[in-house]
Amino acid sequence: MVKHENYFFLENGDVLKTVKALAFNLDTMSDQLFSAHVNPSKDDFANWIEHVFEGKELADRLRQVKDKRDYQILLLKGLLKSKTKKVKKYKCDKCGKHYDSKVGLSVHKTIAHKKG
Ligand SMILES: [Zn+2]
Repeated sequence: MVKHENYFFLENGDVLKTVKALAFNLDTMSDQLFSAHVNPSKDDFANWIEHVFEGKELADRLRQVKDKRDYQILLLKGLLKSKTKKVKKYKCDKCGKHYDSKVGLSVHKTIAHKKG
């Protein structure tokens, strides 16, 4: 879960907790508000995504874009991609079970395949 201090506070007082929330907020966000956060000298959203969600790849792509509509499209694409990325990718080599984190897998290995 995203911690409170990791929320994004928009200049109009709205609070964003997830990248998805930002993508939907862009629908109604004014150009003025958007450019308060995204302009040639900074990109608050990209920084937020990079630091809070470790989405460096998406953030780098967002930094190339200064148009609200294009920005939203990139975000939505990024969300789709991260959804497919969430497929459990750590496979136990002993029983074939899948885990979505390294920790999950190593806990499983410790419990299920403990030696002795
Ligand atoms: Zn196993």
